[in-house]
Amino acid sequence: MTPDVRDRAGRPSRANSLTGTAVPEAAWDRAVRLIGQAEEIALACHVTPDGDALGSMLAVGFALRSMGKRVVASFGDHHFVVPRLLRFLPGQEMLVPPEDYPAAPSLMITFDASTFERLGLLRDNTARAREVIVMDHHPSNEGFGTLSLIDSTAAATAMLAEQLIYRLRGRLDRDIATCLYAGLVTDTGSFRHSSTTPAVHQMAARLVATGLRTDEIARELWDRSPFGYLKVLAAALDRAVLEDGLVWTYVTRVDRAAQGLPYAELEGIIDIVRRTDEAEVAVVLKEDDHGHWQVSTRSKGRADVGAVCAALGGGGHHNAAGYTSYDSVEKTMAAFRRELGKV
Ligand code: 5GP
Ligand code: MN
Repeated sequence: MTPDVRDRAGRPSRANSLTGTAVPEAAWDRAVRLIGQAEEIALACHVTPDGDALGSMLAVGFALRSMGKRVVASFGDHHFVVPRLLRFLPGQEMLVPPEDYPAAPSLMITFDASTFERLGLLRDNTARAREVIVMDHHPSNEGFGTLSLIDSTAAATAMLAEQLIYRLRGRLDRDIATCLYAGLVTDTGSFRHSSTTPAVHQMAARLVATGLRTDEIARELWDRSPFGYLKVLAAALDRAVLEDGLVWTYVTRVDRAAQGLPYAELEGIIDIVRRTDEAEVAVVLKEDDHGHWQVSTRSKGRADVGAVCAALGGGGHHNAAGYTSYDSVEKTMAAFRRELGKV
């Protein structure tokens, strides 16, 4: 358990993270110094951003802007659109498509990207950047930048983003809080996952105290979808297979095309499939617009799907991970079963 230690001003104190993987003080100091010296700061989060990636990035973007910095923010998708679920987040005017991103930023900060590859089209920009601060909470992140702010005990990158904002003496206003809250609730599955520590709830309390609408945020994130989603979901559930503690299904682009449903709308399907009592591990294969399979995996705790997905070219956490497969459904599942058998 990570106790929440505060200084006299009520800010999370430096002793907040007590584990070995916490960010060293010197790294925070260096980050604050690099940011202080910069005029323009380029922010990037992982491709097909989720609430934690985009929320953390925009929250820090607001704080940097209020310090008078020029801020550009992006993510490296070929088809550059903010997922519908996240369009309610404030600060989207900071976003630029990858082609308008600085070619060689002097200071870059990455959010929630566990590997260099997860930056997609922004990889070259990152490779050419003078300084790259990597903010993340994935245990597999080895630090691909010039400075790591990585804490694998944090439930969300948003927790690190909040720390950075305090250290920059930023004020937690409602816009920043909305972005951070989106990250915190997304990555803790609405405070249901085992990562939900007292520190998570304490942070949530600080955010909610700014007056944000938790009910509206929950509806935007989880409780709405176009009608076509119901049909696509029905097709996916109809095809679900239960075999030996593993439940899996797939969604094709033909399924989606029939309903005019964008790929990003498929995110919640794994949360329904993983309910299965008889299964320890759940898998959903989602065919993207290029015909590749994005594989979402979840474990109830015994199996380390993060290790399985890392072995298959992706990554993630012990209980939630993913990768891209360029094979057929059958071959993809055969490879997955083989790796699962090893962990
Ligand atoms: P989801 O199934 O929600 O798309 O992804 C679950 C988690 O797995 C994400 O939070 C992310 O950490 C990780 N993940 C998903 N896809 C990939 C991937 O292609 N590469 C890596 N490294 N991690 C992934
Ligand atoms: Mn995250």
